[in-house]
Amino acid sequence: MPKIISYRKREGITRTTSMKVVKRFRWSMAHRLTHGYEGSCASLHGHEYEVEVTVAGEVDAMGLAVDFADVKRACQGWIKEHLDHTTIVCREDETLLDFLREEKQRHYVVDFNTTAENIAVHLREELQKALDRVLDRKLSVVHIRLLETPSSWVEVP
Ligand SMILES: [Zn+2]
Repeated sequence: MPKIISYRKREGITRTTSMKVVKRFRWSMAHRLTHGYEGSCASLHGHEYEVEVTVAGEVDAMGLAVDFADVKRACQGWIKEHLDHTTIVCREDETLLDFLREEKQRHYVVDFNTTAENIAVHLREELQKALDRVLDRKLSVVHIRLLETPSSWVEVP
């Protein structure tokens, strides 16, 4: 009897558990706030951004919800290609956009004011798409924590 109980416990863990998996990524990026913002962040400046991506999926018979390496490949790949060592710039910020184009500076154009809040929502959407392209299983991005500094961050549930 003890053997059967033990087997059932193991079955429960490996086949029916939903698990959250978390990875962190860092990159350098410049931005400035627009849309009538008048504080110091209206001047072009940069951050060492850090994002904590939480994905949720079912644990398989091997005991894996996802291989950390696959999450890294999908998310870090997208961040490096689009955001790292770039200026993130709102399409309406034509002065800055003209400068970046003329000087052939790496930049990433978006349709929103480049606040941490807006960037976090955008990351949630884009990293979900990046994961869907790379993974052979369905994983959902369920939480994003985006840090502009070690003591300042926003979270998207
Ligand atoms: Zn800033």
